[in-house]
Amino acid sequence: MAARPPRPPEGGFLYGPVPSRRLGRSLGVDLVPFKTCSYDCVYCQLGRTTCRTLERSEYVPTTQVLDAIAAFRRSGAAADFIGIAGSGEPTLHAGIGDIIAGIRQRTRLPVAVLTNGSLLWDAEVRRELSRAHVVIPSLDAGGPRTFRRVNRPHPGLAFETVVEGLAAFAAGFRGEIWLEVMFVAGINTDLREVRRIARLADRIGPRRIQLNTVVRPPAERFARPVPREDLARLARCLGGRAECIADFRPDAETATPRSRAGERAILELLARRPCTVSGIADGLAIHPQEAVKRLDDLLRRGLVAVNERDGERYFGLKRIRTPRVRSGLPERSLP
Ligand code: SF4
Repeated sequence: MAARPPRPPEGGFLYGPVPSRRLGRSLGVDLVPFKTCSYDCVYCQLGRTTCRTLERSEYVPTTQVLDAIAAFRRSGAAADFIGIAGSGEPTLHAGIGDIIAGIRQRTRLPVAVLTNGSLLWDAEVRRELSRAHVVIPSLDAGGPRTFRRVNRPHPGLAFETVVEGLAAFAAGFRGEIWLEVMFVAGINTDLREVRRIARLADRIGPRRIQLNTVVRPPAERFARPVPREDLARLARCLGGRAECIADFRPDAETATPRSRAGERAILELLARRPCTVSGIADGLAIHPQEAVKRLDDLLRRGLVAVNERDGERYFGLKRIRTPRVRSGLPERSLP
């Protein structure tokens, strides 16, 4: 396959540290341009995939990523983990092995890779990920039909190949594997499907099985969350290693002065016009994942609403009614 010229993802290589339920304060590392992925998951919080590919390439220059990591370390900022994730599938980056090795040389922080696991059939990808401390792959289906419905993979990916890759990686990996299962109501929640997923998880043998559901605005409106009680029931079907990690909290508990400043900038932008996630990220020069986390909190607090237009999800200020106390003022927007 022809190599593409490197091009940085919008918003730079690093973002955060952002609060993460699983990783604490996680410094995010993004290795691919926005929505470059081998899947187009119906639940993706970043919207629909714009570049669905299996092409591995040095999408961003490896040396520049490592320079940014070194600069982060020199800044003295604190983090609990370095999380390689971002706005697409990180194993599509052909230099991910060098990047993990380089991070380990430059910092003492543990490295986690959040991946859809779709390229682990490739021995080279397995070798490259072997130096991570934690690998968090996803498995959202127990068979090919549901795989196509939930993950909408690149046509070159077969379900059985993906599962074989996951099992082969797990057999040789010395770090921890936390298998994430994203449940979408009515699509992969059928008991027979869940039992199939449980059997595959047994074969892979992860340290943890982490159950999630659609708590952030998804790519497709029909992707609905599973209620908290049902998720707990599904966890029981998946055995003792399974835990629910879905963030159903009504309020964010992690607001810091910096995050509040970020929120204010988003609200000011949305007061001018509704925006997509990538529009907010571009407009404020922040990473899309950071925009998603801030929006998530604003949605929970009822300050922002989401609307679909031309197949895109737009975020805007939520209009609220002010009490009519003699002034007869019309509706106003927050804040
Ligand atoms: S959820 Fe992850 S794997 Fe699925 S489309 Fe989004 S970035 Fe790709």
